[in-house]
Amino acid sequence: MKAQVFRGVNQLSYEEVPLPEIGADEVLVQVRVVGLCQSDIKKIKYPLYEPPRIFGHETAGTIAAIGSEVKKWQTGDRVVVLHHIPCMHCAYCLNENFSMCDVYKNITTTAGFAPSGGGFADYVKVPGHIVRNGGLIEIPEAITFEQASFVEPTNCCLKAVKKAQISPGQTILITGAGPIGLMFAMLVKYFGAKAIVTDLMPSRIEKALSVGASAAFDARDADLPQKVQALTQGMGVDVSILAVPSDKAFFQALDCTRKGGKILFFAEFPDELEIPINPNILYRREIDLMGSYSSSYRVQALAADIVFNRQIDVDALVSDRYPLKDLSAAVDRATKPTPDTYKILLYP
Ligand SMILES: [Zn+2]
Ligand SMILES: [Zn+2]
Repeated sequence: MKAQVFRGVNQLSYEEVPLPEIGADEVLVQVRVVGLCQSDIKKIKYPLYEPPRIFGHETAGTIAAIGSEVKKWQTGDRVVVLHHIPCMHCAYCLNENFSMCDVYKNITTTAGFAPSGGGFADYVKVPGHIVRNGGLIEIPEAITFEQASFVEPTNCCLKAVKKAQISPGQTILITGAGPIGLMFAMLVKYFGAKAIVTDLMPSRIEKALSVGASAAFDARDADLPQKVQALTQGMGVDVSILAVPSDKAFFQALDCTRKGGKILFFAEFPDELEIPINPNILYRREIDLMGSYSSSYRVQALAADIVFNRQIDVDALVSDRYPLKDLSAAVDRATKPTPDTYKILLYP
């Protein structure tokens, strides 16, 4: 089969690799669509992982083979493949911090080499613990593979929305209107709250309004805090979500968040960046800072429900489709987006 093998920083090689062999409790999935995630791009562009590896984790496909002990699934079933399943009994899992669990962090879905997701290949092997513990989700007939590939990123955003306790009637500032910021705008609306979105690109500001944001502004607008005050009875927003790794965006969020509000870090910042902050700002205004990384086992069913019942319009997020052989070009496009670049999907 063919796969995009990570052979070193910025070195992707589209090559022939052996079809994964499955054990008795494993499943082989033919990848039909795989989303390109910001985290994939980091893994390709920075020396974070020893090559060779096959990344890709926003995977939707068809079951091509099942092990002799697999009872629940059949060949031909259409499924979303989750690459993270927690152990459910370590101290982290018992505290609902599933994404901190060692079993969760240890990726086991693979298309060959050290398991790293394996979605950037014709076929991916799903190990027994993922098959047994809810890591394969059946795709309803009316839902396309493209739509289904959004279940994983929806979960990640949903987890953050839940963590920040976003609720009806609230107003939320979302900094960044890329595919993730736009998905946040959709989810915030789904939960009955209003989204105010900022971005640097005029096209993205327009797009945010078209997918349901109540207001959208240029992130460079010096009057942003006043505009946000005007939209929130002089209070400021209940929650700010940082969907871009920018210290400027953080300080803007600090200016726009109400007393007793929350600021949630969603985008991963460069490791060398530090943000100086006077702790009294947090103390006197009772601002909560929080982070949300990856997905949650707890909101998995809801994430699938939201996508499969079209509660958010994931089609509106798709801008580019590439054959898997052109993954390098897809990564270039994602890192140098045109005014119309949003979610990029890959087709093996
Ligand atoms: Zn992802
Ligand atoms: Zn655990």
